[in-house]
Amino acid sequence: MKNWMTILARRYEEARRQYPNDKLMVLFDIDGTILDMRYMMLYVLRAFDREHATAHFAELDVEELNIHENQLADFLERRGLPAAERERLAAWYEKNRWAPSAVMESHRPFQGVLEVIRWFQIQPQTYVGLNTGRPEFLRTDTLRSLNALAEEYRVEFASELLFMNPSSWDHDIVQAKVAGVRRFEAEGFRVVAFIDNEPANLKAVAEADPEHKILLLHADTLFESHPRFIPERSVSGREYALSSLVTERQLPRHVQFIWQGVNDGANLRQFLASNITWGEVDVRQDPAAQRLLVDCEGFSESSGPGREDAAYFEEHLSAFQRQGKSLLIDLHDPACLDGVIDALERCGIAEDRLCFKAEPPRLEERGIRLLAAAFPRAGLQCSVDFLVPMFQASPEQAEKFLRRLSGWGVNRFGVGWPFARQRGLLERIRAWGYRVAVEEVPDLEAFLQATLLLPDAIASDFNFPQWCYYGQGTGQRRYRYEVAGGVRGHLL
Ligand SMILES: [Mg+2]
Repeated sequence: MKNWMTILARRYEEARRQYPNDKLMVLFDIDGTILDMRYMMLYVLRAFDREHATAHFAELDVEELNIHENQLADFLERRGLPAAERERLAAWYEKNRWAPSAVMESHRPFQGVLEVIRWFQIQPQTYVGLNTGRPEFLRTDTLRSLNALAEEYRVEFASELLFMNPSSWDHDIVQAKVAGVRRFEAEGFRVVAFIDNEPANLKAVAEADPEHKILLLHADTLFESHPRFIPERSVSGREYALSSLVTERQLPRHVQFIWQGVNDGANLRQFLASNITWGEVDVRQDPAAQRLLVDCEGFSESSGPGREDAAYFEEHLSAFQRQGKSLLIDLHDPACLDGVIDALERCGIAEDRLCFKAEPPRLEERGIRLLAAAFPRAGLQCSVDFLVPMFQASPEQAEKFLRRLSGWGVNRFGVGWPFARQRGLLERIRAWGYRVAVEEVPDLEAFLQATLLLPDAIASDFNFPQWCYYGQGTGQRRYRYEVAGGVRGHLL
């Protein structure tokens, strides 16, 4: 059977094709679908222990909580707690599970779900709605806690896209789910899919949708109603994986994708045959032959100049030119600056198809300014991972560094994965008016997560067998600022 996220992607695409101008909506339940309720249970049970100086749950692991959040009584009985204590606990649990502190501190999303939501939220004319059995009085707490969890994924939930149960707790939930679908439809949204962990809710929505307009997805987590209610046409799944949801042709078009480490013949062939436009090559001077080598490893006995598989920059350049590819050049040695500039001018490659790595310890101010003057319309990118601690501690100082580099001609800043995920980092650099590249992205899932950050460029080895890309980079960072102080020395 096909993966549920793949089926969702296909249904969404069909709807987009059929209704190009409609507001499409993917509708999610919250508890047990977006949120893993076991963490809430663990939090409330531990709070009981703390408050009553007991130790019933000191050793309890979240994995052992394989019960729906409404079925605590059975669980306590299985753990052999005496009846009186079970009653005391049940009362505590009921009183505290929806307390604002529990809602804020204990709720956790399932892995990947917020990325999936973000993916839909960045698609044009596409909305993510929430359809929950929680009662209205929890609206403010619900939005506040979900948005706190969602912030680092750039996801935002708006009140007008949240439908709550108009009755009180645990009443008429099934009817409320149908009412939620109808409300959004009445407001002009075309509901493409509805995701819920409760079989009974899916059944009710299935019955209200005899024409099968809505794809029903069953989040196969922990649920209360009987599995026999799962409609035949619904699809179950447990993992929210972007790599099952997103295909290559759905990638955002304005992001530059860069294939790193296009140095050896095998990688060059893979890259040239791919749909990826930008390739990164590492260039060094071959001191013996007085030629420019494409090589990231540096010279040693086994990989030194004159070896049989040595690749030369000019040959790489012609291959790029023939295939209409664009070139990001990482100059490892200021001694090759003149040679690279000459070679590029000779071959006449358009400047907008060129970019250079401008790493101050290698090229120094003079080299960076030279490249900027020789190719004013080319990209000039500097990695700023060494500034990451400063972005937190002293943003004014960090901005000063960037301004100085920008004065030399740098026009894009690179941030390595996973620094790029740090809250607010990319946003801050962009708010200062600079373009950003996310570098060293290790695999397809991370690559897709990086696209959700909407940077200007993403660089990766493209070892994505799922997409038939077999980049052979080392998967390791090619270059680090070993002594951050030394780098700052170049800048001040
Ligand atoms: Mg639920």
